[in-house]
Amino acid sequence: RAKHAGRGRAMHYEALMDDDRDLRREMEEALRAAVARGEIDVVYQPIVRARGRDICGVEALARWTRDGQPVPPDVFIPLAEATGIIDALGPLILKRACEAARQWPDLGISINVSPAQFRNPYFPDQALAIISEAGIDPARITLEITEGYFIQNPGRAKLVMDRLKAGGVRIALDDFGAGFSSIGYLIRFGFDRMKIDRSLTMAGQQSIKGGAMLQATVALAASFDMPVTAEGVETAEQAAFLHLCGCDQLQGYFYGRPMSEKAICDLIAPPAASQSIAG
Ligand code: C2E
Ligand code: MG
Ligand code: MG
Ligand code: MG
Repeated sequence: RAKHAGRGRAMHYEALMDDDRDLRREMEEALRAAVARGEIDVVYQPIVRARGRDICGVEALARWTRDGQPVPPDVFIPLAEATGIIDALGPLILKRACEAARQWPDLGISINVSPAQFRNPYFPDQALAIISEAGIDPARITLEITEGYFIQNPGRAKLVMDRLKAGGVRIALDDFGAGFSSIGYLIRFGFDRMKIDRSLTMAGQQSIKGGAMLQATVALAASFDMPVTAEGVETAEQAAFLHLCGCDQLQGYFYGRPMSEKAICDLIAPPAASQSIAG
């Protein structure tokens, strides 16, 4: 069951499949087969520096096309978590992303990790081995994790996080502002970065109070030496406000949609062209 996947996502998943067990079983088998055959794509969304708007990294995002139809990650990731498929899918995505990252030595690479992976006792060693085998400097890797597992099982989560950090990778708190967003946890765990959820990015633009909330959140992160990436940046106005609030990195459709490996290569390749991808 997708209970650990976060409230919104679990509801989405349940709405789609809980009332139809055959459909769910069918999708599970299709996903298992796709993962076994390596038929999962990874796309990459640019992350830019707020100052200068030059690309400084990418976030790897998994894609599954089933019978010509894309299945959203908000559906197949919770399914993979609930069925154990994540044990094969997680490493597959990490490996793909690390191999792709070899072509972009100047970019950081962020990879999402699900709570189910964090619960696996072999995960830290396995992840560090994949990174090392790909020949990637672990300092270039940021693993993104949502707060859910840290609230559920703080002791265990902290151990896993420390093991990963000792291996040189960074850990970012993903989707801040979307869930419980307990401030106390931020202080305790020592995340290397905070990612502001798209809903908070939007709220910041919609009202005076939303703006104040966004500003206060970034200031709080800064007071714990946590740099902040804003997600879901869709307009120049949002970008300007987020920069003003103190976000050092911006990510969203305004700068680029998730794109193929090749498209990232094209984006950064032409030395003559400016690397600035948006005003
Ligand atoms: P996330 O990690 O918060 O990723 C950001 C999501 O926001 C992505 O959706 C991205 O396409 C979308 N996005 C980025 N900029 C904008 C924007 O300006 N506007 C709008 N409307 N959306 C934007 P995506 O790719 O559908 O992924 C959804 C979620 O699925 C991710 O949220 C992440 O939690 C999960 N996910 C995706 N790939 C993986 C993966 O490889 N492993 C794991 N464990 N989870 C993944
Ligand atoms: Mg993420
Ligand atoms: Mg996010
Ligand atoms: Mg998300």
